[in-house]
Amino acid sequence: MRFASLGSGSKGNSTIIQSDNTCIMIDCGFSVKDCVRRLERLNKTPNDIDAILVTHEHSDHWKGVLPLATRYSIDIYITSGCLRASGLDANSYLGINLIDSHKAFKIGDIEVKPIPVPHDANEPVQFILQDANSRFGILTDVGSITPYIIEQYSGCNGLLLEANHDLQLLQSGSYPRFLKDRVGGQWGHLNNQQTADLLNVIDHSCIQQLVIGHISLSNNSKQLAKASIENVYKGAANIIYADQEEGFDWLHLSAL
Ligand SMILES: [Zn+2]
Ligand SMILES: [Zn+2]
Repeated sequence: MRFASLGSGSKGNSTIIQSDNTCIMIDCGFSVKDCVRRLERLNKTPNDIDAILVTHEHSDHWKGVLPLATRYSIDIYITSGCLRASGLDANSYLGINLIDSHKAFKIGDIEVKPIPVPHDANEPVQFILQDANSRFGILTDVGSITPYIIEQYSGCNGLLLEANHDLQLLQSGSYPRFLKDRVGGQWGHLNNQQTADLLNVIDHSCIQQLVIGHISLSNNSKQLAKASIENVYKGAANIIYADQEEGFDWLHLSAL
């Protein structure tokens, strides 16, 4: 299995996971044109994508999903709460597959497990994807850590984890009060310290590739995230910091 990102942050997110015979996109917060351009960097076209999984309806994740899916006839997998929040119904597009946020399902040779998370969206989920050889987890847009998150994200080989903001920078920054409360609250985003703590409490012994993403351009920096996380987390894996514009290139997970 290998994974890559078309971009990561509040201006747009999209992650690609590729197994032996299946290619899955998680979210698409970019226009079709922008998405195609970004896919080219990874030597992919929309025709290579078997399915798009949707985490939640915020535009940095959802904006390009339906335009891309309808244009290239790609299946969409989405919770009913998220679909409702996006203003569509299951008949809006033939390729819509409603998922149970507590139930795993298969796409090709990949088992997809939705993980319900606390975030200020409608029935938001994150995902763990597993093939015969490895296990990849994505966890962004989550305001607080639940016991279920700790249990499920333990034992991943590849992990894309949010470190959205530096708490001090958020509090002293230019955001209006309501937005500071939203971003930093229980239903907002993880700060650097929460991310570092999470890495220490999950079983991180199997991590081969660790990426920190959804780093705020206003309330954080790669340097701040790196300093907070690498000060606390002593796991073996080298840490990559995802970029809003560049995402990150293919990262390979070797067989267990
Ligand atoms: Zn987001
Ligand atoms: Zn969000």
